[in-house]
Amino acid sequence: MKALYGSTSDEIETFVIAQGLPKYRAAQILDWIYQKNVLAWDEIKNLPKDALQKLSGEIRLTALEPGEEKKAVAGGPTKFLFKTPDGHFLESVLISQKDAPDSREGEETIPQGRRETVCVSTQLGCKIQCAFCASGQGKFTRNLTAGEIVEQVARISRMTGKKITNVVFMGMGEPLDNYEATLKAVRILIEPWGFAFGARRVTVSTSGITPKILEFVKAVDGRVRLSVSLHSSIDEVRSSLVPINQRYPLKELVSALRRINQDLKREITFEYTLIAGVNDSDEEAEGIAMIAKPLRAKINVIPYNPIAEFPHKAPTPEATERFCDQLERRGLRVTLRQTVGRDIDAACGQLRLDRMSAR
Ligand code: SAH
Repeated sequence: MKALYGSTSDEIETFVIAQGLPKYRAAQILDWIYQKNVLAWDEIKNLPKDALQKLSGEIRLTALEPGEEKKAVAGGPTKFLFKTPDGHFLESVLISQKDAPDSREGEETIPQGRRETVCVSTQLGCKIQCAFCASGQGKFTRNLTAGEIVEQVARISRMTGKKITNVVFMGMGEPLDNYEATLKAVRILIEPWGFAFGARRVTVSTSGITPKILEFVKAVDGRVRLSVSLHSSIDEVRSSLVPINQRYPLKELVSALRRINQDLKREITFEYTLIAGVNDSDEEAEGIAMIAKPLRAKINVIPYNPIAEFPHKAPTPEATERFCDQLERRGLRVTLRQTVGRDIDAACGQLRLDRMSAR
C-alpha cells in the first residue's frame, strides 16, 4: 500500500487496527475519501489530531497531483491532466450531458437527468496498438494502480464541484490488460463502502481479451456494463485494426459473449469506430447484424477521430448516417457517439501519453 486511496474496506480496517486505532475509524475514513472525495489528510474532520498525525506519517492519502485542465468548446468535454508520483502524466475526460444528447440515443441511463461522465485511463500507454488509436503510440510505461484509477473520479469531482453520475473505463489503456487494478477500481466504485455508484452507471470497455472478459464478468457478477470494441465483423479487417484479434479471433470472442448473454443474462454493447473506406461497407453492416442480433447487443457508432500518425479518414456525416441506417434496417439498436472534444484531443482515441513523460 503506497497510498491509502484505492484501498478496499478490508484493507483500510487492517491498516487502522495495525495503527492501534479502533476499527470504526476505518468506516469514517472510507466515508471521507470515497463519499466526500477528500484528498488530503487534514481535510478529515472527525479523527483525533494524534491519530491523523500518526496515519499521515505512515502513508500518503492520494497518489496523483492535479495538472492542467483543458476546456473544449462550450458544452464539450473537459480534459484533465494528472501527474503520477513517478512523474508521468495521464489524461481523463469529463463529459457533461443535459439529457438525450442525440436522437439516436434511445437508452438513457438517467432519464431526463444530467449526466456527468468521467472517462478514466487504466494504463500509461497501451499495448494493444489499435491502428486508429493514439493511446498505443509511444512506449508502454506501466499499469495504473486501482487508487490512481478511482482518484481520477474524485479529483474531477472536487475540481469541478460536480456530482459524477457515470464512470466509463474508456480512457487510455486496455482495462482487462490491467486486470487486478481494474477489478479493484470497479469494486471501489460500486461497493456501498466505496463511491457507491449504481453498477449500471459503470462501464468497462475492452478491445476483446476474450478469456479475461469471461473472468471479469464473473468476478463482478455481471453487474457493471460491458462494452466490446468490435470495429469489424470480418476477421481479416479486424486483425488489421485490432491486432489482438489474431490471438482471439471473432469466433472465439463472439462465443464468449454468447455465454455471457445467455448464461449470465447480461447485455453487451459494441463500440464501432467507423473509418471511411475501411469498415463502412454494407457487407460489414450485414456481418455486424449476424454477430449482434443473436446477442441483442447495441451498437455504438463512433465516427473516427483523426490522429496525426494514421492515414485514415473520418466518414462524412452523410456516410455515418447511411451506415447507421444500414444497421437499423437490420433491426439493430444503434447509438451515434457525438463527435466532441476533437479540438482539445479529448475525443475517443485521442488520449495519449503526454509528450513530456513519453520522452
Ligand atoms: N482499450 C479499451 C478502452 C478504450 S475505449 C477498448 O479498446 O475498448 C476507447 C474507444 O474509443 C474504443 O472503442 C476505441 O476503439 C475507440 N477509439 C480509439 N481510437 C479512436 C479514434 N481515433 N476515433 C474514434 N474512436 C476511437
